[in-house]
Amino acid sequence: MEKADQSSSRKPRRVKPTVAPPAHVPRSVLRIGDREFLPGESGKVEIKIGSLIDYQPVTMTVHVHRGKQPGPRILLSAALHGDEIVGVEIVRSFLRSRLLSRLHGDVVAVPVVNLPAFLARSRYLPDRRDLNRVFPGSTNGSLGSRLASVYLQEVVAKCTHIIDFHAGSVNQPNLPQIRFSPGDTAALAMARAFRAPVAIETTIRAGSFRESAYRKGIPYLLYEAGEAHRVDQADIRCGLQGITGVMRHLGMFPEEVRHPRKGKAKVKGKRPETFISPSTSWLRAPRGGIFRPFVDLGEAVTKGMVAGIVADPFGQHETDIIARTEGIVIGISRKAAVDEGDGTFHVAQTTHAVTVQESIQENRSLIDAEEAADTAAW
Ligand SMILES: [Zn+2]
Repeated sequence: MEKADQSSSRKPRRVKPTVAPPAHVPRSVLRIGDREFLPGESGKVEIKIGSLIDYQPVTMTVHVHRGKQPGPRILLSAALHGDEIVGVEIVRSFLRSRLLSRLHGDVVAVPVVNLPAFLARSRYLPDRRDLNRVFPGSTNGSLGSRLASVYLQEVVAKCTHIIDFHAGSVNQPNLPQIRFSPGDTAALAMARAFRAPVAIETTIRAGSFRESAYRKGIPYLLYEAGEAHRVDQADIRCGLQGITGVMRHLGMFPEEVRHPRKGKAKVKGKRPETFISPSTSWLRAPRGGIFRPFVDLGEAVTKGMVAGIVADPFGQHETDIIARTEGIVIGISRKAAVDEGDGTFHVAQTTHAVTVQESIQENRSLIDAEEAADTAAW
């Protein structure tokens, strides 16, 4: 989860990029860590970051897949927060894709950015810091700071586009959604090509990976889906289709891709366009008690609607949670016991919520149909 501003994404912070984004990279040697990759070469390399209490090294495993033809160099990264597993599975699955044989440009993939946190199944580093607050880091700083610094220099700086995969926190799943930075028009075009149900222009947090990418002028998408510790098949499919859509948009798969598994029924229908929401806000528990939601992820709320209740565990009283604006539920609490002020529904604002809800349902059923027909290219 890109823990942000749980109140609202209404006032995006604008950070001026320092360099213009490169469209293509030269077809020279790509050096990452102690390995060199020529066009057409693939492999993986482990970059040494530091060591842990048990003397075990902290490394970062980087997969490189270089196409024979020139093109952009996209970075796919996950588990910057160690308990957000869904992205690891998306990146890992994508690396098995047969589409990669037709690649123009390069794919650089880091399934687990934050190994110490991943091993601990924790969002945080061993010193309890959030890696997504220590960027750009320093080579002589804390372990997280060194990790951020090495990652930026050895990997990120060599790429032209980024998709970074995250998940909601425990018991707080997110509808698949894209976050992109204010004024980043290249990222907005990527977000449309990704075709997640929802995309939101959100605040850039100081010290985040996104801020460093933005300062380097590298278009960056953040994919949020599901919750920590869990993987959901629909969230994985949406992520895989999103990567493919973005790479097609960037011209990395210029040829028409033939159906990979002959004999299987082809799923008809084009997934609906992404709904771009101007802002989001949280509906909070008006008091402590037992929380019962009446709407779920992807569903519409209208202004004044009772979205759920909080009930007195010792009595009969129930307090309504009333939607303040029209919108779509993009995040929800699965915790039945809440304190006053706890986030219950994360709502993306829209003035045509029912239409958006229908489009989200259509999106989901097309993903499910692909799943059933097993027609995807991975
Ligand atoms: Zn995260």
